[in-house]
Amino acid sequence: MSYNIPKTQIAAVVTSSDAPIEIRADHPVKAQVDLAPGECLVKLVSTGVCHTDLHARNNDWPIPAKTPLVGGHEGVGHIVAIGDNTPDSPVKIGDRVGIKWLAYSCLDCEQCRNGLEQNCPKAKLSGFNVDGTFAQYAVSYVHHVTPIPDSLESNAAASILCAGLTVYRALKYSDAKIGNWVALPGAGGGLGHLAIQYATAMGLRVLAIDTGAEKKKLCTELGAEKWIDFKETKDIVKAVQEACDGLGPHCAIVTAASGSGYSQAVDYLRSGGTLMAVGLPGDAKLEASIFFTVFKSITIKGSYVGNRQDAIEALEIAARGQAKVHYELQALSDLKGVYEAMEEGKVAGRIVLDMSK
Ligand SMILES: [Zn+2]
Ligand SMILES: [Zn+2]
Repeated sequence: MSYNIPKTQIAAVVTSSDAPIEIRADHPVKAQVDLAPGECLVKLVSTGVCHTDLHARNNDWPIPAKTPLVGGHEGVGHIVAIGDNTPDSPVKIGDRVGIKWLAYSCLDCEQCRNGLEQNCPKAKLSGFNVDGTFAQYAVSYVHHVTPIPDSLESNAAASILCAGLTVYRALKYSDAKIGNWVALPGAGGGLGHLAIQYATAMGLRVLAIDTGAEKKKLCTELGAEKWIDFKETKDIVKAVQEACDGLGPHCAIVTAASGSGYSQAVDYLRSGGTLMAVGLPGDAKLEASIFFTVFKSITIKGSYVGNRQDAIEALEIAARGQAKVHYELQALSDLKGVYEAMEEGKVAGRIVLDMSK
């Protein structure tokens, strides 16, 4: 199979954090001869939009994003070229693969050897320090792209590559066991609605925390056993504990952008429970009571996206129909409007860009 690769493409380019996103029709495409060994070129079919893309676009993290930048890290597409002198490639031309946040790691350092590829000192991040998936073509790496199971449609797979992967890994490493309670603040959101489904698939009992009738309906339909509307509840800590056998949940997966969601979890967790910190706010602090963290034997763990194996597992569960992304399709040219809606908190579920539009 060989593909006709154009010299230029349509791409959404961030030139600086205070300039609007530019949709350019003349963005260069890296030619096959210019691909380094181990690099591959992916023609995108679909890409999800993550909150992290907004952080990268606004440059509001303690670590800076490159400019000019093509954002995006939930991409699904076909491999159309592979760099010369790439021995033992696990993927071939024509394969449908995913591009996730972690575009590259060395696979040789201590972190990589321990399965913490995302903490590799040589890590390259899609849509942050290397160009990502908000373009018709993206350069990625044969040892890090994720094969997409045949039974999973591309638009449905896209947001599994970041949102799904992130919550799946957090649950996997939370030490929660079958029959345990897990609290999910923000359960009706992009990460939360996937966390409900993965948690249910793992045999956990879900307490969903969010607000509004629409989100209550969604969370309940997806398998949440209990629901707390945080706007209608005066004492959240007490209500959460009462909902989970009067003792509190065994685990909380907190994806919030503010610090209060994290310290509150330390208060409502059952003794011996685990707080999985998953959100990436740029400057919020986790202010937990040291006394109660110790007195209640609480574990606080950071969980940062996931490695290649976590990604394969998260996709397999989705391919079996046990985790479905609730998404709305838009076009790449709509990206500016999508970011505005995200900043206003108006996006329900996930936005996926159909790259054929
Ligand atoms: Zn993401
Ligand atoms: Zn490494």
